Amino acid sequence: MKPAVFLDRDGVINVDHGYVSKTDEFEFIDGVFDACRAFKEQGYLVVVITNQSGIARGMYTEEDFQELTQWMDWNFEDHGVLLDGVYYCPHHAEKGIGQYKVDCDCRKPKPGMLLEAQHDLNIDLARSVFVGDKADDMRAAHAAGISKAVLVKTGKAIADDGVSLANVVLDSIADVPVWLAANK
Ligand SMILES: [Mg+2]
Ligand SMILES: [Zn+2]
Repeated sequence: MKPAVFLDRDGVINVDHGYVSKTDEFEFIDGVFDACRAFKEQGYLVVVITNQSGIARGMYTEEDFQELTQWMDWNFEDHGVLLDGVYYCPHHAEKGIGQYKVDCDCRKPKPGMLLEAQHDLNIDLARSVFVGDKADDMRAAHAAGISKAVLVKTGKAIADDGVSLANVVLDSIADVPVWLAANK
């Protein structure tokens, strides 16, 4: 079993401009590719875990999301990083429309996407890491039994509940490899 570095998307990989659904809105955060290459060299899988309630709200479709994800994937590949998985939740219990109005098990803070990835990729969750920008990311990590929950400052304004749930607060994903090397 390998450990994984789980990454939230908006605010961690790309600047959170709010409901990002197109390539021209997708702005990679400085250092993200170098950081992901370092995770791979450190023996981690790299898996994206993202709530996409914009789908539930009818702001963009699952096809739009898949297209953007493919483009994101190619960008990572161009920089020498093969992502091991991308998991997304298209639901919202209150704001969802039609089939997407579901009180699901996947939307963070629930751990459903993490448990699915664990099952698909045989991940050692106890040795894994979650990098997120919100309290709900930290909650999902803890609910899945992940030992290291890292809060980064590149996304939503850092809130007290996020800080209190995080194992460490770092400026950005670029700082995670060094922290991990020192905190095995
Ligand atoms: Mg986020
Ligand atoms: Zn869901």
